[in-house]
Amino acid sequence: LLSQAMVAMVVVVWYLVKSMSKPKISSAKENELMASLAQFKSLYKHSPVPYLTIDGKDLIKSHNLAATRLFRTTIDDLKDTDIVNYLTLEDENELSVLLGKIETGYSFTDEEVQLRARDGALLWVSLSMFSGSSKGTRLVSMVDITRKKMIDIAKTEFVSLATHQLRTPVAAIRWNLDLMRKGLEKASDIEKLFGYLDRVERNSIRMTTLIDDFLNVSKLETGTFATSSEMIELSNFFQSVVEEYTGSVEEKKINLKRSEQPSKLSLLADKRLLHIIVSNLLSNAVKYVPESGVVVLQYELIDKEVVITVADSGIGIPVDQLDNLFTKFFRARNAERQATEGTGLGLYVVKQSVEKLGGTIAVSSVEGQGTTFEVRLPYISMED
Ligand code: ADP
Repeated sequence: LLSQAMVAMVVVVWYLVKSMSKPKISSAKENELMASLAQFKSLYKHSPVPYLTIDGKDLIKSHNLAATRLFRTTIDDLKDTDIVNYLTLEDENELSVLLGKIETGYSFTDEEVQLRARDGALLWVSLSMFSGSSKGTRLVSMVDITRKKMIDIAKTEFVSLATHQLRTPVAAIRWNLDLMRKGLEKASDIEKLFGYLDRVERNSIRMTTLIDDFLNVSKLETGTFATSSEMIELSNFFQSVVEEYTGSVEEKKINLKRSEQPSKLSLLADKRLLHIIVSNLLSNAVKYVPESGVVVLQYELIDKEVVITVADSGIGIPVDQLDNLFTKFFRARNAERQATEGTGLGLYVVKQSVEKLGGTIAVSSVEGQGTTFEVRLPYISMED
């Protein structure tokens, strides 16, 4: 009986010890835990934020689908590779500080660093690392901020270009005003004074054009360019644009030819956009033709499309640079060599304007012989 009682006691004690050392989880609780684990796994796998886990030696142990896309690779390609090998920065000091943090296992958030993807593409990411449950493991998140970075860079470029370009005409205005003041003190040579005034006027016009260009770029890019349609009689419209360039056309003895088919054609469009298009193309043609060169300005109505052509016998565009022509700030190498002034914004604004009017633009050019721009706009008349 005693031994039976002893056995029973041992069993009870064993049972008690067992239940104390391993807290009993009810099956409902267990199901709940399993469900939340499944939820976590699914979130990790399908989250739009790229996640990776790394071990104490910085080797990638797992990653989700977004990380696969970010690294531009296939599913198992990253496993056991060193995360440090993908990270880079132009500033070596900054990079070594960051790598130090990674190696010592610190948690940190939102460090901006460049990521070299598997296909060689260089991206910008915002990197965060958090200590994991077991020793040395960390959860890593990387948010792609390449677009934001590119916009920041473009903005900085834009501001520095704008200020640089605006300084030149302002300096010319101030210089000529100074000369005027000195001239007035002596008040002898009135011809010279008018010359200074002319230059002051020319430079303020130049500055207004530049400011308009900058404003148009920013309005077209931010979508705040308010348009309104009106009937534009093309022949008169062309005439008014041509008159803006009479000075340079006469000075360079340019042979400006016009062709208008049919002679009376009215188009329903936004006048400011059409002005940006025609005046920029014409000013380029005038700028890039040599003395006594030819410039042709024409429109034709072809199958419900108004085809506007601006052609010139100027310096042309190197064939390998044609693809970049409509990008912001682009200037071809022969134009830069000639030291003609320019911002590389004109054609960019032209393309944006053409597209806002629902049209297309094409260019053909032979270096040293000439260039032809062809703009096709949908022909909308009052009857439509
Ligand atoms: P820019 O202010 O430099 O003239 P644009 O955006 O108007 O800027 O033009 C971009 C570049 O395209 C110019 O710098 C020049 O290299 C080239 N280009 C534009 N139009 C012509 C043309 N008619 N003839 C030759 N090159 C041209």
